[in-house]
Amino acid sequence: MILLKNAIVVTQDAERRVLPGYDVLIDHGRIADVARGLHPEGCEVIDVSGCIVAPGLINTHTHIAMTFLRGIADDMPLRKWLEEKIWPLEAKLTREDVYRFSKLGIAESLLSGVTCFVDMYFYPEEVAKAAEELGSRAVVCGPIVDFPTCYSKGPDHALRLAEDLIKMYSSSELIKPAVGPHAPYTCSKETLMASSKLAREHGVMLHIHLSETKDEVEEIKQKHNATPTGYLESIGFFEGNRVNAAHCVWLTEEDMDIIASREVYVSHNPVSNMKLASGIAPVSKLIKKGAHVTLGTDGPASNNILDMFQAMKMACLLQKLASGDPTALTAQQALDMATIEAAKSIGLGYELGSIEPGKQADIIVVDFEKPHLKPLYNPVSHLVYAARAGDVKMVLVRGELLVQDGKLTRADLRDVIREAEYAAKRIVGDVS
Ligand SMILES: [Zn+2]
Repeated sequence: MILLKNAIVVTQDAERRVLPGYDVLIDHGRIADVARGLHPEGCEVIDVSGCIVAPGLINTHTHIAMTFLRGIADDMPLRKWLEEKIWPLEAKLTREDVYRFSKLGIAESLLSGVTCFVDMYFYPEEVAKAAEELGSRAVVCGPIVDFPTCYSKGPDHALRLAEDLIKMYSSSELIKPAVGPHAPYTCSKETLMASSKLAREHGVMLHIHLSETKDEVEEIKQKHNATPTGYLESIGFFEGNRVNAAHCVWLTEEDMDIIASREVYVSHNPVSNMKLASGIAPVSKLIKKGAHVTLGTDGPASNNILDMFQAMKMACLLQKLASGDPTALTAQQALDMATIEAAKSIGLGYELGSIEPGKQADIIVVDFEKPHLKPLYNPVSHLVYAARAGDVKMVLVRGELLVQDGKLTRADLRDVIREAEYAAKRIVGDVS
């Protein structure tokens, strides 16, 4: 048992209560009690005075092993960036590389308060292995595209591998498998339908990139005489599935209505969208239409970090700037997108996303004894607009302390960094 003593608890419960001077009791990996003045016997007491206790942040879209491409090529047009830099380097990836680069990204994520992430990348079982070793939760997609990659020979092979992945992790506590057809422009109708069917049959999440750029919309319109969202709707892709659609930058009114009525979860990636100049997703409008929106960082090649604090702040600022309306997206809405809404999107709304008795103890402790966090009038405002990833002091997943005093407990960070750097040097050195 662990008792977090004297916290300011940002519960993210149905009433969005903030409870100053409260204790959080953790037992057998779950939140046992949230109350004042708890004194149970035989538990480890951790004084968290001056700290915020909040639900762990959930990053709903990333390619975490792309840490090896961080900063290798910036400030380029998307197509040129992909074709000349990213794809040739990715072609050299081995299974072991993905494991090492994932470990680096997961270390970065945990240290910045991310307790769960949704990943789409080659060798997803290696991403899962790295997550399990460091104790992080992850939703790993079997990645599906029509062309051969370093991981799969073609769509049929990719679908078979995705099914194997689902079976491998069907009863895992930390890892949730999912199906990840890359995008409407990289998957044929047959591939999209087979992916949709596979996810539906196994009751797992279906994850796809959707309407990220103007070019994508034009390409799909020419090929299928519909917007990407309209096209997916017309082929029955959403039918009977829990879908997480990343980006959704270029949407028509009809697209937004489809997304809302099909209860598609949109993963908004503001920093990546800005860096690649993709555009501004109509987040406020989607929320007004009743759609669910969550938050992601996208991969470290297009962000270039996995910082959900930055993502929350940027999401708010971007909507305000785009609309000329400072109320367009509030701090509370951004925090919801990174916690409770994200938990629902991965099918774990009853287990994660808020600090409530009975839920899994996926918790972050943020040190608010910092000059940039004083004075403190509104903890939610500070979490979104003022706190930094480096303010995260403690991270628990399933009640286990994975980060203590800003340090990983399950691995030596220096080893994680050294192994990733060594592998990156081999790949990048090969190319030039
Ligand atoms: Zn992406």
